[in-house]
Amino acid sequence: MIYQGTAIQVKKGLTGIAHLVFDLPGSAVNVFNQLMLGELKQAIAAVAASDARGLVCVSAKATFLVGADIKEFTENFKLSEPELLEWAASTNEIFNVLEDLPIPSVTAINGMALGGGLELCLATDFRVASDTAILGFPEVNLGICPGFGGTVRAPRLMDALSAIEWVRTGKQVKAHQALSEGAVDAVVASDMLVEAAEDMIEQALSGDLDLQDRRAQKTGPLPMSAEEIKKVFSEGLARADKEAGAHYPAAITAVDAMWKAADQSRAVALKLENKAFVTLARGEVAGNLVQLFLNDQFLKSRAKKLSADARPVKKAAVMGAGIMGGGIAYQSALRGTPILMKDIAQQGLDLGVSEATKLLNKQLERGRMDQGKVDKVLAGITPTLTYDGFDQVDVIVEAVVENPRVKQIVLAEVEQLVPATTVLTSNTSTISITLLASALKRPENFCGMHFFNPVPLMPLVEVIRGEKTSSQAIATTVAYAQSLGKTPIVVNDCPGFLVNRILFPYFGAFCQLLRDGADFRVIDQVMERFGWPMGPAYLLDVVGIDTASHCMKVMAEGFPDRMQYDFRTVIDHLYEAGSYGQKNDKGFYQYQKTAGGRPAKVFDDAILDVIKPLQLKQDSISEDAIRERMMTALCLEAVRCLEDGIVSSATEVDMGLLLGLGYPRFRGGALRFIDNMGVTEFCDMADKYADLGPLYQPTAKLREMAAAGKTFY
Ligand code: NAD
Repeated sequence: MIYQGTAIQVKKGLTGIAHLVFDLPGSAVNVFNQLMLGELKQAIAAVAASDARGLVCVSAKATFLVGADIKEFTENFKLSEPELLEWAASTNEIFNVLEDLPIPSVTAINGMALGGGLELCLATDFRVASDTAILGFPEVNLGICPGFGGTVRAPRLMDALSAIEWVRTGKQVKAHQALSEGAVDAVVASDMLVEAAEDMIEQALSGDLDLQDRRAQKTGPLPMSAEEIKKVFSEGLARADKEAGAHYPAAITAVDAMWKAADQSRAVALKLENKAFVTLARGEVAGNLVQLFLNDQFLKSRAKKLSADARPVKKAAVMGAGIMGGGIAYQSALRGTPILMKDIAQQGLDLGVSEATKLLNKQLERGRMDQGKVDKVLAGITPTLTYDGFDQVDVIVEAVVENPRVKQIVLAEVEQLVPATTVLTSNTSTISITLLASALKRPENFCGMHFFNPVPLMPLVEVIRGEKTSSQAIATTVAYAQSLGKTPIVVNDCPGFLVNRILFPYFGAFCQLLRDGADFRVIDQVMERFGWPMGPAYLLDVVGIDTASHCMKVMAEGFPDRMQYDFRTVIDHLYEAGSYGQKNDKGFYQYQKTAGGRPAKVFDDAILDVIKPLQLKQDSISEDAIRERMMTALCLEAVRCLEDGIVSSATEVDMGLLLGLGYPRFRGGALRFIDNMGVTEFCDMADKYADLGPLYQPTAKLREMAAAGKTFY
């Protein structure tokens, strides 16, 4: 035994080759935490002091090493700049010592080698991968760049443009492609991996593989002319700029560091990487993206707990084959739960089936599905005008028209025909779940299941708990949502639930801005620059101005103190003028079909005359004020949702906005936005707009948080 740690062991085999085995205890996968890094340092020192002829790095787990322990690793991001630089440099030294060992080294890559795991592989002289291995640098997804020498070693070992692509996109690459791009030296069947790695050591020892050449390649500048370097890296930088943009600085910063390091030695190149890594790690965007990663894990573990009591869902039914019902049926059948799709009109059913067929044909055209799969999914949807088969269903999603009377009648009718254990849900956007439950004999078996449009694309499902909903009904609905590939968030009943309750004050702020003289195109531009996928006017057109006008009334009834407006809103005005947005090609913008059949947005200045009578003031409102007014109204409603217990954590509020509304990821969420600004500073900002009404006035609790120096995260 050369070294025995808790997570790493080094043994010498009969051939005199040392095997360094990663096997982190208590974890399904190997990750770099302080324990692993500390032991790696000691293990390499022990190898250097031993008489081993070569070193093979292997994993005892089903996969190689998936990167850093994010939670522990990112604690370091809070260090001061010099401290973090020192940490990065000293960690890098471990990899340098491995790279400079006097004996040849090979990594045997089984399964995934990601992030720090891949950087470890690149530090050894050679790499052999199993044919199932997957390699990649996912760091940009967390707003950082590789920090253990990945940006230095990848371009020196690989084709430089490929290395740039790996670093800047965070993509995962399969073994054979990794071989063709130079990241590994051989690919073999899994059961041949260790033998192949030992064989490589023998070849390096015999001179069949040129060790000195390989080491020179890894520690010197790139073997490219100045013109070639400029061409390749400027192209990489342009791609990073185009695809990631200024809101996500990691890709640009990483490629820039790689460019500066291209004609430098390893030592200088590593310093450049350290600097880029530290700059990114200490930045706000990385903080937000890392928090999102942790939020995602939190939601998964919460859903697991909430669904512990779930009853199996072998068969489902959806009532109403419209836009939403058709989408829900498609998604259920696609994910393997057969579904009855009931409507009262044959025309409705035809529409639902044609919607599902259209979605499937798209998958077929894109080569993501074959005809067999398409037929199988379609066979999973049973269109029906009757209740035949409803005695067999485990979950029902009601998705008929948004009218409380109609919904209550439909739900009460179906309740009589299904087993007592069947869970009934309603895909309502606005109607109180407790109110709908009042028509039922078994209200405990009923909850809301609010999908977002379009169902196949939108990841969020709000599972709404009514006053009498049982935990088992919630469990089954959460499990069914997960089986559809969605992220469920359980929310308590209130007008708008979580997402629409926060969205409508934002639309309210928009209406007030228009009233005060702002141009809706400027508001759209300002909010799109903030990072929203579309500005509020465009979003209203997409949601449907008729739908928005209806929701606004519900919200005004629910929260009259702040959501009932004493002026005529542009939303009601356009609705009454018959402008519903994209669905009838006229709203704030006009819509014309492109050759591909998509609605393209065009501006027609006739709309300015339509809006003019509503503009009671002609204030000149700065872009800063537009952004501040919009975000203040939105963020304060997010605060109220948390305070009112609609959800139980800041994480759920922020993830609801991200997954349901497309809130810009790099900003982390509304409550995260307040934290980043500082709670006191946020309250000061809101106070500037207090005269505009209660929508802009911080709650007493938020002021208490500010005074106590507390934050949401
Ligand atoms: P839609 O008008 O496209 O479809 C409603 C369907 O229900 C129609 O096919 C109609 O024939 C059918 N129907 C009416 N009464 C019925 C009955 N008694 N039994 C069976 N079917 C009946 O509506 P949609 O946009 O799919 O909305 C459905 C529900 O989903 C509404 O409550 C809506 O608020 C909610 N929702 C809609 C969206 C959206 O963006 N469209 C988003 C989230 C939630």
